[in-house]
Amino acid sequence: MFAHNKRLQYTVRVTETNPGLANLMLEQFGGPQGELAAACRYFTQYLAEDDPGRKDMLIDIATEELSHLEVIGTIVAMLNKGAKGRISEGMESEAELYRSISGAGNDSHVTQVLYGGGPPLTNSGGVPWTAAYIDSIGDPTCDLRSNIAAEARAKIVYERLINCTDDPGVKEALGFLMTREISHQQSFEKALYSIQPNFPPGKLAGMPEFTNVYFNMSNGDASADKRGPWNNEPTFEFRKPEPAVDGGTGMPEVMLDTMDAATAQQLAERTRSDTTSDPMTGAELGMGANPGKADDLGAPPVTRTI
Ligand code: MN
Ligand code: MN
Repeated sequence: MFAHNKRLQYTVRVTETNPGLANLMLEQFGGPQGELAAACRYFTQYLAEDDPGRKDMLIDIATEELSHLEVIGTIVAMLNKGAKGRISEGMESEAELYRSISGAGNDSHVTQVLYGGGPPLTNSGGVPWTAAYIDSIGDPTCDLRSNIAAEARAKIVYERLINCTDDPGVKEALGFLMTREISHQQSFEKALYSIQPNFPPGKLAGMPEFTNVYFNMSNGDASADKRGPWNNEPTFEFRKPEPAVDGGTGMPEVMLDTMDAATAQQLAERTRSDTTSDPMTGAELGMGANPGKADDLGAPPVTRTI
């Protein structure tokens, strides 16, 4: 079960109303690298996990991510509080109110007009949150690798957000959230390496003749081929992908029964191209005498005087 604690995981101190900054912060509220995505990612992995150590870690981190969601959502609400009061109570002239919500930038007027200053489950550009942000596949080595990458991305988004504000309290709370993603990345890496073997994922080995091959897929000046540990000996054999690499013809084959073969042949005959024809097209018919130029501008728009 869950029980809520009335205090935040980290104290939020916001210096002044800033609706534009509030909307930037939504990136980590309802965005792909945000806290809701992280919490749902680890919570659903926890439900299906059988390893007691990983299961415990996943629910601890999922619960911490929900606590982060509360912190970043609170930052958004605090940054919007002044503007929220002004628009709800109609405390300014229409023109001043319009300027104060649309001049803040970054779609902040939508947060005010549509959501009343509360944090919507969208990213900073207004794109609604989606479960498609979560790519769990139910294999612990795959999911841990994806979790490591998700934490790395979240860390970078926080770093970018920190660079966007000079509010010391917001900077500090974001610094805490960023730091926790570093910590989670380490936990997931340790958990991955505590599974042996963990590469390649799954049970089936790769085909040995292709597992340690690097196919050089670009033609041209061979001196432009860059070599590095990603394609060097002794791990990799660096070679051209002569088709077909299996030594076969490279031509596709399929075995069909007599009926399917006849039907497929009938379809091919019915849709065969006449390569000797030169048919007239609608585009050519519409060209008129002056192709590419507008020679009929139509009627002018109607203007009425009141
Ligand atoms: Mn987090
Ligand atoms: Mn995290």
